[in-house]
Order: sequence, then C-alpha cells, then structure tokens
Amino acid sequence: MNNIKHYFNSLLLIELLKGLRVTGRYLFARKFTVQYPEEKAPLSPRFRGLHALRRYPNGEERCIACKLCEAVCPALAITIDAEPRDDGSRRTTRYEIDLFKCIFCGFCEESCPVDSIVETRVYEYHFEQRGENIMNKEQLLAMGDKYEKQIAADRQAQAAYR
Ligand code: SF4
Ligand code: SF4
Repeated sequence: MNNIKHYFNSLLLIELLKGLRVTGRYLFARKFTVQYPEEKAPLSPRFRGLHALRRYPNGEERCIACKLCEAVCPALAITIDAEPRDDGSRRTTRYEIDLFKCIFCGFCEESCPVDSIVETRVYEYHFEQRGENIMNKEQLLAMGDKYEKQIAADRQAQAAYR
C-alpha cells in the first residue's frame, strides 16, 4: 500500500509541489535578512566593540592607572605602565590593548572605578600591517574623543538596566 502511495506521489510530483508551496509562502513574507553593509542591525547599548579611553569634560584623562583592568583581563591583553606626574597625580605612560588576545568580555570596563576604559559600538575594523592589532594609548584616547557622545549615552542607558 505504501509503495503504491509513494509511486503516485512521485508521479504527481507531490513532494516538489510541497516544496514550492513553502517557497511561495516566504516569497512574499516580510524579509528578515539585513543587507549588510548597506543596512545595519540595531545594537544594544551594552554592545562590546573596540575599546576607548575616556576623558573628563575638561579634557583630563579619566584613567588613574590603578591597573585593575590589567589585573582582571582574563586574556592578559592589557599592558599598562604608570608614573606619577609633577603634580603628584598618577597617570599611565603606556596603555596598550592587544586585539588579537582580547575576547571582548567587558571585564575591563566593569572593573574600572572611573569609567575610563569602555567598549564602543565600533565593530568594523581590519588590520593591514603587522602590529596594528595593538591599540596604544593615543589611539584609545582618540576613540574616546570621537565617540564620547555615544559612549556617554550608552553608559546612561546601561545604568537604567541595573
Ligand atoms: S574586553 Fe576582556 S579580554 Fe578584552 S581587554 Fe577587556 S578584559 Fe581583556
Ligand atoms: S582604565 Fe580604569 S581600571 Fe584601567 S588602569 Fe585606568 S582607571 Fe584603572
């Protein structure tokens, strides 16, 4: 009986028609595919992209070289050297993040007592030369300066989650 049913199904192309019915149903349905890079998917304010070092509104860098971020980083991706300034305040002389090691866990930004190291929404980047995987202090501060408005808004939104 089953064999006869199978024979008629094959003869009448029933399986093919079933497949075409599914195709037809989705042909006119709402599309979920995002046409990247022309279209971008929405990002959460907690998105963890490239890092940035922030400044206070007066231009002073926030980082006080406490090295908590360096200590907490599970990938040992952060390297910090620090020295006291003439005014006695402690600041970094070197702050580097190795993006090959970083796993974008966000522990560094969570550990920072002054909201200095943060992760931005920037996820489109590439390297062309050896060594470009190391983000140095100047690059991190430049990222902070460029995206400060977005970073501040995201930090405020994050506070609402807590
Ligand atoms: S995001 Fe995680 S792995 Fe990357 S530098 Fe921060 S603590 Fe280290
Ligand atoms: S970025 Fe934050 S946690 Fe890291 S050394 Fe500076 S102040 Fe400390």
